[in-house]
Amino acid sequence: MSRFMRKDLASLQAYTPGEQPQDRRYIKLNTNESPFPPCEAVKEAAAAEAEKLHLYPDPDGGRLKRLLTEQYGVPEEQIFLSNGSDDILNFAFMAFCDAGRPAVFPDISYGFYQVFADLHRIPAVVLPLLPDFTVDVEAFLAQKGMAVIANPNSPTGIALPAEEIEGILAADPERLVLVDEAYVDFGAESCLPLLKKYDNLLVVQTFSKYRSLAGARLGFAFGSPDVIRDLETIRYSTNPYNVNRMTLAAGIAALKNAEYDRENGRKIQKNRAMTEEALKKLGFEMTRSSANFLFVRPPVGDGKDYYLGMKERGVLVRVYGNERIRNYVRVTIGDEEQMAGFLRATEDYLKGAGHERG
Ligand code: PMP
Repeated sequence: MSRFMRKDLASLQAYTPGEQPQDRRYIKLNTNESPFPPCEAVKEAAAAEAEKLHLYPDPDGGRLKRLLTEQYGVPEEQIFLSNGSDDILNFAFMAFCDAGRPAVFPDISYGFYQVFADLHRIPAVVLPLLPDFTVDVEAFLAQKGMAVIANPNSPTGIALPAEEIEGILAADPERLVLVDEAYVDFGAESCLPLLKKYDNLLVVQTFSKYRSLAGARLGFAFGSPDVIRDLETIRYSTNPYNVNRMTLAAGIAALKNAEYDRENGRKIQKNRAMTEEALKKLGFEMTRSSANFLFVRPPVGDGKDYYLGMKERGVLVRVYGNERIRNYVRVTIGDEEQMAGFLRATEDYLKGAGHERG
């Protein structure tokens, strides 16, 4: 820390992203990216924008918003665009929480929630997931403050039915409920239809996973016109040009070619089912995932042993420091070839660890 750093930020524990190794080629199943590159139309649209990189992008993202309106049935004034959905989460913590209104989220969820709370010095109420790793809805109902629920949750992959979230929305109209739907398109139920009924709902989504655009950084959110205006105030007070030209063009082209993403989504769900079955045969336990990853417990060793064993064999998975889930790892679902390589490495690891099958 330099002597110029604010003293009250000295102890901030920054978010640790999953490894992005540049040294060797791994089967990379640790950051929930899509294994499928964007389609040709998206690549061409982004490349064509290079011509105009001397000009600022449209700070309003009007063309992209109009397509989102068409496809999601939400008016433009209820749509917010950002540089990845992390940006929206950051802005929401900044805008809607303070000393008297904590952020309320589960103990096992997206690690960035705690970081944003710490960064903005907002109290965090951390609610343990139930023993089966589902969200404790009763505990949410008993708290005040902004509820932040990843649905499906990460790293568990478990989806909460929208009606359970509706219970939280209905119980207290004065409380904002942020539903982080980064993985919703892989088989969960979106809360978006509830927006017509509840102005205390903020639905956050991303182009990073299902739409194969993690590298472009494009997030979007749906909320009441007032909530979206508040987020715009924060955005215009930080970086109005937060979505760059190439990304806007890529997002527009992706929405125009939505069938490509749907097809890839189906492939991921198929590979997920195949991987689940194969791992169960090898003695793994797992939660029921509605996302593009599995949360699995190997039959021998803890999560770290398995992670290290897999890394040695050229496969990256995600392991966690949290004591409660030390026996688990999260495995992103890749394409067929990647999952075959993952399963081969797993069998080899189990042999090495002396595990007898069956
Ligand atoms: N929410 C959850 C639950 C996530 O796992 C991620 C990805 N790490 C994000 C939000 C942020 O994704 P992005 O900023 O790429 O949209």
